[in-house]
Amino acid sequence: MGSLADLHSHSTFSDGRLTPSQLIDLAYRNGVRIFSMTDHDIVDGLPEAFETAGRHPDFTFIPGIEMSTDVPGSEVHILGHFIDWHNEPFLQRLRTLQKSRLNRAHDMVKKLIELGKPITWERVQAFAGEGAVGRPHIALALVEAGHVSTVSEAFDQYLGRNGPAYVERDRLSPEEVISLLLGVGGLATLAHPRELLATGTLEGLLGALKEAGLTGMEVYYQDYLPEEVATFRALASKFGLIPLGGSDYHGLGGPQQREPGNIPLPMEPVEELLSLARDRGAIERARIAHAR
Ligand code: AMP
Ligand code: ZN
Ligand code: FE
Ligand code: FE
Repeated sequence: MGSLADLHSHSTFSDGRLTPSQLIDLAYRNGVRIFSMTDHDIVDGLPEAFETAGRHPDFTFIPGIEMSTDVPGSEVHILGHFIDWHNEPFLQRLRTLQKSRLNRAHDMVKKLIELGKPITWERVQAFAGEGAVGRPHIALALVEAGHVSTVSEAFDQYLGRNGPAYVERDRLSPEEVISLLLGVGGLATLAHPRELLATGTLEGLLGALKEAGLTGMEVYYQDYLPEEVATFRALASKFGLIPLGGSDYHGLGGPQQREPGNIPLPMEPVEELLSLARDRGAIERARIAHAR
């Protein structure tokens, strides 16, 4: 069963398998009509995404980004929608993040060599292509080299937070990232909160992030069960956050993968997000369907 909207996805400009054009065409074929591409810490795929979105008159495209932040013991991802992705200081900041991603990936390759699981930087670079390098590209190189059989196994055995090849990133706090996103007129949404619920840190974090300007939380996501969706919807309501969602489609396969639009995201919260974007003067940064 497909949703008309999907607010979280990745292309070749970060760790997705499809180009922005392929991604949008797939979402469109799946019946999605309100879509956002949210590559990790990069906006360079947005021109191509807008161009492709423009070929479908009944298609709304929202410029987005997913930014990685760290809190003690875990990682927090924040989605920014309706961002002014031409803002030069913002772009400068993203370039710095790209450099730090590169350094981190180099360090992880070194660690893997020390662990007796050698991969080459060239292969990681080849998987990353023109975009932001991430752990999934290292995972693909590990699979290719025959050290593991799947990307998930690469994360479980080596690349996960507690894995032997893990390297910390430059720390950005979620509050800093929210402020960065608000600074470019974006609306900020907490992504995939399940891990945070498991560590017991979610409620404290939501209080602090709401204060910092968070407007939404992902409630409808990949394999979240109806009970989990109900829990997150109640939390969103408690903290005054819009209950949003997305497939987080990467095209890398795996048991958790959902196709674009294959999430039970209802239209009401999406309309609420669009209406907030209108109030804040951010809606003009989206490509709005003619038919709407
Ligand atoms: P990075 O941005 O380099 O820290 O890599 C994080 C990305 O790796 C996430 O956004 C996911 O796309 C992917 N990822 C994280 N954990 C796993 C996992 N256990 N299995 C597969 N992919 C994962
Ligand atoms: Zn990713
Ligand atoms: Fe994420
Ligand atoms: Fe994501």
